[in-house]
Amino acid sequence: MPKTGVLIEIAADGKVKDTNYGVLTAARGKSGNEVYALIIDSSAGVDAIKGELAAYGVQKIVVITATNDLQNSPDLQATSIIAASKEYGFNSLLGLASASGRDIFARVAALLDEPMASDCISVDVDNKSAVKSHFSGKTFATVQLDCSMMIATIRPNAIEAVKLADSGPDSVEIITFNAPATDSGKVKRVEVKKGSSGKIELTEAPIIITGGRAIKASENYKMLEECAAIMGAAVGASRAAVDAGYAPHSMQVGQTGKTVSPKLYIACGVSGAVQHFAGMKTSKIIVGINTDKDAPIFSKCDYGIVGDIFEVIPALTKALK
Ligand code: FAD
Repeated sequence: MPKTGVLIEIAADGKVKDTNYGVLTAARGKSGNEVYALIIDSSAGVDAIKGELAAYGVQKIVVITATNDLQNSPDLQATSIIAASKEYGFNSLLGLASASGRDIFARVAALLDEPMASDCISVDVDNKSAVKSHFSGKTFATVQLDCSMMIATIRPNAIEAVKLADSGPDSVEIITFNAPATDSGKVKRVEVKKGSSGKIELTEAPIIITGGRAIKASENYKMLEECAAIMGAAVGASRAAVDAGYAPHSMQVGQTGKTVSPKLYIACGVSGAVQHFAGMKTSKIIVGINTDKDAPIFSKCDYGIVGDIFEVIPALTKALK
């Protein structure tokens, strides 16, 4: 049976990030690949999370440990993942197109001299192909990898996570893999500072509520934050709002901001320019709220509300409460 290794990202609270589940769903493939969850040096312990991983088809959890400072060395993480891949004979290796996923997987591909598909919106591990969004979301390209092991990163939330009905925590085997000691490389992470873009990271959020130029002032983002807190959403901004100084660049969605793919994207007072759309086009459901019935956003959204955000958002927050 083909085997897929998936690098699992663990949140600061020790829980599995929800965005991993779409990757695990893709990892199973059509023919039911054997799925190995790779966890880097987890201090939190894996017993608490094995049930969740089993529900999405993980059969084996490989906890990678090393004598060096594995957590802070992307080079060492890459060489450890390669060693585990060889040990267990993976046919494919998948992970998230997150900040660390991009960092680690590029190193893995380069060290193995294998091709890599990055930031994919779907992958086919049986066929070793992937679909990527190109030219700011104007086209979708299917890429075929000529490789001995498929390496791909997947855009967070791009693939719908599907649970398996019949797998419980007892079906999962936990293995500790001691990576061979190697040079810990030239890059070392020395500090992680929390960004200013709110509690939920934009690229991982299942729901995003974005304020455009119409928000008029930075303090008015509180209105969106209040609504977002009830929905478990992250708050984003258009470039016009960022350029006007209403929001930091870390909140910007679009061609020169972040690329997001949430289940629900609510654009508040955003006109719907192509450069904004480039960053949120793959959202599952798009809602536009705009006073101008002819705004471009209305030709691109699933649901549109012609109205003033300063009336619609408080009403939505009240209804949600
Ligand atoms: P506007 O276009 O000014 O639209 C504001 C909208 O709010 C209007 O449609 C108006 O009808 C509506 N409105 C006003 N008042 C209200 C109200 N009270 N209630 C409801 N609706 C109201 N843009 C990005 O967002 N992200 C990017 O990454 C990005 N990258 C770019 C890269 C390049 C190279 C270039 C050239 C541009 C880029 N842009 C980007 C800018 C983009 O072209 C638009 O200028 C920008 O997205 C417009 O932001 P906006 O929709 O908030 O503002």
